[in-house]
Amino acid sequence: MKRNKELYFDALRNYELADDEVLRDGVIYCTNCDTPRVFPDFVNDDGTLIHIACKCRDMAHWKLENAEKEWARKQNVLHLKEISLMDERYSTVSFLNTRTENAELKKVYDKCVDYCLNAAKNAYDGKGMYLSGAVGVGKTHLTACMANELLEQGFKVKFTNISRIADLILTNDTTELNQVRNCDFLFLDDFGKELVWKNGSDGWLQQKVFNLINDRYNAMRPMIFSSNYTLMDLLAKHYDRATIDRIREMCEQIEVKGDNWR
Ligand SMILES: [Zn+2]
Repeated sequence: MKRNKELYFDALRNYELADDEVLRDGVIYCTNCDTPRVFPDFVNDDGTLIHIACKCRDMAHWKLENAEKEWARKQNVLHLKEISLMDERYSTVSFLNTRTENAELKKVYDKCVDYCLNAAKNAYDGKGMYLSGAVGVGKTHLTACMANELLEQGFKVKFTNISRIADLILTNDTTELNQVRNCDFLFLDDFGKELVWKNGSDGWLQQKVFNLINDRYNAMRPMIFSSNYTLMDLLAKHYDRATIDRIREMCEQIEVKGDNWR
């Protein structure tokens, strides 16, 4: 482009105005938004006018671009949900459609929301949560809300349990196992339900659980547990100290009290 008033006015004379354009003081304006459609006084190297987007075209373009981005984001979330291993029944729960009338539960609810609001920092710090409490107080529901929120934010999330991970090990599903090991947030539901026993014949599974937790610990990748047992319960009967220590170091322990939810 070059500045050349003479060429500019030549080009202007040869230009055929569109229906939504008007010529005023040597500048072509959009009749919708009254902002310029050409760059005044300058011409392209071939002597033609330099067209620019008026405000309304710019806005339309921006909206289209945003719509495309939003569509791509939604597609990505759908994909992430598909591979999250989350059960159908929990796939639609969210903080927004969860009632928290019980004061004790509200405290935990707020902590879970807070965790998700600081998801990027928690992912970076490798900080997780360990929710324990009696059957039916709503631990799984709350952690599923967290998982769905983190998926919406575009994080890679897996929502599963040790029994299913044991199946992956037994079927040698290394692809899925690697995803479980490396995803941004790993949710282990109903931890302890698999009922491994100290010094039991399931020592191999104890070792695998330790390896998984230890790998994520070393890589500073957060884990969120829900369990009917406190860590002390698990240490007493089910898991060895090395495993429990790792969980304790990574996770804030939260006890969910309150009445049965269902
Ligand atoms: Zn316009």
